[in-house]
Amino acid sequence: MNKIDEALSALLSDEKKRKRVQFRTVYITLAVISAVMTVINFASGTGALSIATLTFCLLCLADLALSVIMDAKLEKLSAVLFIIQLLALLIFFTVSGSPEGFSAVWIAMLPSCGMLLFGRKVTAILSGTMLIIMIFFFWTDQGQSVLMYNYTQAFRQRFPVLFVSSFVMSWLLETIYVHTYRELRQARANMHELYSHDYLTGSLNRYGLDEWYKRTSPGSRQAVMMFDLDFFKQVNDTYGHDAGDAALKAVAAQVDKLTETALCRWGGEEFVVWYPDKDISDELAEEIRRAVEVLSIKDPDSGAIVHMTISIGIARGSAEDNLYTLINDADKYMYQAKQSGRNCIISE
Ligand code: GH3
Ligand code: MG
Ligand code: MG
Repeated sequence: MNKIDEALSALLSDEKKRKRVQFRTVYITLAVISAVMTVINFASGTGALSIATLTFCLLCLADLALSVIMDAKLEKLSAVLFIIQLLALLIFFTVSGSPEGFSAVWIAMLPSCGMLLFGRKVTAILSGTMLIIMIFFFWTDQGQSVLMYNYTQAFRQRFPVLFVSSFVMSWLLETIYVHTYRELRQARANMHELYSHDYLTGSLNRYGLDEWYKRTSPGSRQAVMMFDLDFFKQVNDTYGHDAGDAALKAVAAQVDKLTETALCRWGGEEFVVWYPDKDISDELAEEIRRAVEVLSIKDPDSGAIVHMTISIGIARGSAEDNLYTLINDADKYMYQAKQSGRNCIISE
């Protein structure tokens, strides 16, 4: 992917930014088109049309300025103003009919433009309004009496049909786009869940922890609790791997209930709990140790009840401390807890 693609995909991944990019792209595109048309109109001597396209060009630039300079509320206002000026221009095109009835053809762009900016609902209302206006001018006597150009009968009959076809095509394309985009977002969320979490216990994996660490500024106090299941190999050896899995899940769920922050499976039967902006009290650590100790885990195959204990190490630090240094420290304390007979807590 080149740099422009990367920047674009970063922008498009954020819903609000994506909308903003779409709005501004349409404003700029239409400003450029109407500037070009103004030059062509001047050159071909169609004075009133030149003024209309020049005015529209300037209004598009004003919409752009509103959306760039002002906050989100005025960005919506810019969209409403845009709708009004677009309808006004298209009505002018229809009524003036110059040059030689061609201007009205620009109406066919309305559905695609609307879908890009406002989605299906608003565009349906907008296109419906335009269709009624067109039918009034092309198909009623009062409407035709206002027209300054004598459109052919074939044009008056067929152009509204082309307009409706253009709307249907744009609606279909937008529908496909909306569904594809929704699926893409869901797939992205699922993928993120998969690569940042441990499949067995549902806790964060190392990648998930690192991702969290990168977007978090630690507070003046932070703490890391690391724990490891005691004699876990024996559970596997005695009851089998499925019982081991059930024990891992049950312990992780039990600890997760009490930690008040995310749990990370560091590897095997070792877990890390990071408190980015507070200390972990000795009382809470003891409560966690005790909650695991009293847990009765049922082996899914034999129905046997398994009991587990954990050894806990706690490291404490300040805002400047690196998470991984704290994890290393907590690991050392946890090792000391193992040395001290397991099922206990050693803290800094
Ligand atoms: P200690 O008290 O010293 O920690 O002893 P231990 O038996 O818990 O530690 P050891 O390192 O000897 O064994 C860890 C075992 O954890 C070995 C490995 O098979 C098991 N294990 C690691 N991940 C999983 C898993 O996802 N599921 C199951 N069932 N077992 C696992
Ligand atoms: Mg162990
Ligand atoms: Mg271990």
